[in-house]
Amino acid sequence: MTARILVVDDIPTNVRLLEARLMAEYFQVLTADNGPDAIRMCREGQCDLVLLDVMMPGMDGFEVCRRLKQDPSTMHLPVVMVTALDQTEDRVRGLEAGADDFLTKPVNDLALVTRVKSLVRLKMLTDDLRMRAMTGSQLAFSEPHFDDFRHNDGNRRRVVVVDDRASSYERVVDYLCEEYDVQVITNPNEALISIVGNEFDLAVVSLSMEGVDSLRLCSHLRSVEKTRNLPLLVMADMDQEQIVSRALEIGVNDYIRRPIDQQELLARSRTQIRRKHYNDCLRNSVQQTIELAVKDPLTGLHNRRYHDSHYANMFDNARRSGSGIAAIMCDIDHFKAVNDTYGHDAGDQVIREVASRITKSVREVDLASRFGGEEFVIIMPDTDVERAEKIAERIRLEVEAHPVQVAGGSKQISITMSMGVSSIDGEDDTPERLMKRADVALYTAKRNGRNRIVTELAA
Ligand code: GH3
Ligand code: MG
Ligand code: MG
Repeated sequence: MTARILVVDDIPTNVRLLEARLMAEYFQVLTADNGPDAIRMCREGQCDLVLLDVMMPGMDGFEVCRRLKQDPSTMHLPVVMVTALDQTEDRVRGLEAGADDFLTKPVNDLALVTRVKSLVRLKMLTDDLRMRAMTGSQLAFSEPHFDDFRHNDGNRRRVVVVDDRASSYERVVDYLCEEYDVQVITNPNEALISIVGNEFDLAVVSLSMEGVDSLRLCSHLRSVEKTRNLPLLVMADMDQEQIVSRALEIGVNDYIRRPIDQQELLARSRTQIRRKHYNDCLRNSVQQTIELAVKDPLTGLHNRRYHDSHYANMFDNARRSGSGIAAIMCDIDHFKAVNDTYGHDAGDQVIREVASRITKSVREVDLASRFGGEEFVIIMPDTDVERAEKIAERIRLEVEAHPVQVAGGSKQISITMSMGVSSIDGEDDTPERLMKRADVALYTAKRNGRNRIVTELAA
């Protein structure tokens, strides 16, 4: 795993020290000796992580961190504050400025490397999500929703504490419940099932439980799909340096040392919950944009773009396997009159209702799409022309037999639909010709009086 680390410090010796240690681990290192330069380099996307000195002339580290975390183009960059002062107050100030972690000078090699590696790993995950969100939005021709995450939905976040010592968890719960809904699990053997069965935003796990391997629990939580993205914060005793670095290696997000300071605990919890929320928003954005890209928003059916790409594959399959494929093209009769008489909203309601009746009449493997306006296409693999006609007839009757209720059931609109059917004809047939025949058949159905099904066989 290689990554670009930006080291920011006004004292050249400090820069060189960190640079040497990081380069020994094959990281690429960039340097800056003041805040404004560092911010510019981050905005230009030159680095993956920032090691930031607190005391610098001009703009200090806290201010640099705050600015990076407020700017949408840099807020996802992990920032580690490097401070000479081993004062809880300064750590908390750094974490409150949005720093992901802090290290104290002189920097301990092991701490430096494990921290950097674990933060870089998290950053890679976020980068991947950001990229997918971008791709999704390009597909859907819409803006990604990166900014959504700043709008808090007002819900209290839920934290689970796994700890078997009353003297320890009582204090932790007391500290956390100011800001969060807290649940305690005192029997570690029940922890996995209980956490997987709930929706938590953070798990705080003690590393000092009686006869229990806390790391095993953490690694289980990492491997289960449901909790893969749940932030894990472990509580360590002073002499647990080795376990802490193992914990970070297996994907634990952060640690806090006993005796636990309330402000530090709250600051670390906030950082983790914020990062989870950010990643959740990215994930939702990916989901939404992908749906936007392939679905018709009014009916939830597939849109034409999706039809085009998927139909080509379905047709290829059918031709190769000789299993048959059929198309039904549908168009609501005199739909313009529905709009003119009942209004556009009622028209939309009719389109939605027809789409829903089509969906109910076809199989999972069939591809039903809205082609535009009041026109729908159904592609059915493994289906011959007689079967396609039967299904078309079922849909036609379903539409004719039950008028659509609009305006809360106070109005009933009777509608009918015309349909054209076609099916694959031999190895030389093409997807375009199959669709063309369904289209010609639909046109004939309209001309012959509507509310009927016509089949067009190959010439
Ligand atoms: P025909 O029986 O020949 O198909 O007649 P028609 O009136 O159904 O067909 P025409 O193509 O003349 O009119 C279709 C109308 O559908 C015109 C258009 O305003 C309306 N329309 C298209 N898309 C939508 C939509 O999303 N919502 C609503 N309410 N109306 C739509
Ligand atoms: Mg029509
Ligand atoms: Mg039309």
